[in-house]
Amino acid sequence: MRYRGVVIRPPSEAGSYILQVTYGCSHNACTFCPTYKGTKFSVRDMEEVREDIAEASRMIPHARRVFLGDGNALCLPAPRLEEILGLLRSSFPRLERVGIYANGADINAKSEEELRDLRRLGLGIIYLGLESGDDEVLRRVRKKDDSERMVEAVLKAKRCGMAVSVIVLLGLGGREGSRRHALETAHAVSRMNPDYLSALTLMVVPGTPLHDEMMKGEFELPGQEELLEEMATLVSACELDGCVFRSNHASNYLALGGVLSRDREGILAAIEEAGRRPNLLRPEFMRGL
Ligand code: SF4
Repeated sequence: MRYRGVVIRPPSEAGSYILQVTYGCSHNACTFCPTYKGTKFSVRDMEEVREDIAEASRMIPHARRVFLGDGNALCLPAPRLEEILGLLRSSFPRLERVGIYANGADINAKSEEELRDLRRLGLGIIYLGLESGDDEVLRRVRKKDDSERMVEAVLKAKRCGMAVSVIVLLGLGGREGSRRHALETAHAVSRMNPDYLSALTLMVVPGTPLHDEMMKGEFELPGQEELLEEMATLVSACELDGCVFRSNHASNYLALGGVLSRDREGILAAIEEAGRRPNLLRPEFMRGL
C-alpha cells in the first residue's frame, strides 16, 4: 500500500482505501491549481497496482470503499480500469463503491457502453471539477473543458448509472466577475442536476500562475462578504432536484449543507446570519486546501 506524494481525495472519501493508479493529472494546466505542479503525469505500473491491491486485501479485507487516484484517473483506457475494478471486486468481498476524479473530456472520450461496463464493475461515483459555469473564467484559468462539454459529460455519466459529484470554486471569477461567475455556475449546475454539489473557496497559492496574476494586479480575490454573497447567489439561482449541497471543505469560511432546492431557504438564512455575525465564519488561519 504505497502512496507517492500528498494524499489527494474528496472529503467524502476520507474513509476509503486510496489506490493510486496514475500519478498526477494529465491536464495539469489550471492556473489556480497547485496540486500536481511538481508531478509529471504517468500511468502506474500494473504489476505494482496488483501488488498493492493484494497487500491491501490482507491488511483491510473489509474495505467497502476505494478511491482511485490521482487527479483524473478516468483518463485511463477502459480495459485498464476494468481490470483494476475486477481485481478490487475479487479482493474486497464487501466492496460497495469505487470513486474517481475525472475531467469532462475523460468522460466524453468513453463510450456509453464502456461507462456502463465500468459502472457494472463497481465504479459508482465520479467527482468532476466544474469550478465555474462561466466560459470566460474557464478559458482564463485554462480549464480543459468548456461548460457545455462538462454538462454533456455529467449527463452522460448519469445516463450510465454513475453518481456524480460536482465541485465549484467560489471566488474564481474574481471581484468584478463574482456575480456572473455565480449565475453562470448555477446555470450549468442546474442543467447537470448532479447527485452532489460541493462549493470550495479559492485560495491563491504562491507558485501558481494565478498568484502571479494577482501579484501583477490582474486578478483580485473577492473578500469574505463578497464570497458569502457569491454563495447566496449560487444557491438562489440553482434549480436542482434532490442534490446534496455541501460547503464543508476546509477552504470555506462557512460550512453548510442541505438538499437543493428543498433546503434553499434555510441555507440562505444561514448565509445571511453569517454575514451579520462574522464570528460564525472559519478564521483565516484555519482554512486549508
Ligand atoms: S484538472 Fe484538476 S487536478 Fe488537473 S490541474 Fe486542473 S484542477 Fe488541478
